Amino acid sequence: MVKKYELPPLPYSYNALEPVIIEEIMRLHHTKHHQAYVTGANAALERLEKSRRGENPENIRGILRDLSFNLSGHKLHAVFWHNMSPPGKGGGRPGGRIADQIEQDFGGFELFKKQFSDAAKNVEAVGWAVLTYDQEIDSLVIYQVEKQNFMHPPNLPLLLTLDVWEHAYYLQYKNDRASYVDNWWQVVNWDDVERRFNKLKI
Ligand code: MN
Repeated sequence: MVKKYELPPLPYSYNALEPVIIEEIMRLHHTKHHQAYVTGANAALERLEKSRRGENPENIRGILRDLSFNLSGHKLHAVFWHNMSPPGKGGGRPGGRIADQIEQDFGGFELFKKQFSDAAKNVEAVGWAVLTYDQEIDSLVIYQVEKQNFMHPPNLPLLLTLDVWEHAYYLQYKNDRASYVDNWWQVVNWDDVERRFNKLKI
């Protein structure tokens, strides 16, 4: 194994999403939480390598579970940061082909927003709401992630992700996840979502 996973830089400063998400949350979230997933993924790969060589044999199920948890955490956050941009720049409504697709698949932006918000607010304990696109049925699809476990078939790409782990909002919103979710729409970077969508839509 030559390359390791690395913490990608944020595409904006730690205070850029204020007042929707305060600097303290963004700094901790990126430098501590996302970093921990990156470190954990690399550590799990090292444990697999040692296990192959017969050094320090351990239960492979445990290692692979750790790898899945941490690597999913890393990949989800890497998209999440780019899915957001400062209020004023972000937010509003999508345009272009993603807007047309939302209209086709959800019957309008407000209906989509409501359902995605419901998904996020109702993740059991901690996890994510995700928007993906399935070429097989030419449709956008909303799903939930519990913790970091994808409850959805693999190979469907991440278009829009919303982190509803408590570390994403608790310092500012306390237990009011619903307000965090409602405010979060002000920082959604629709240009980024559309770029991801345009790579998939034929
Ligand atoms: Mn997080």
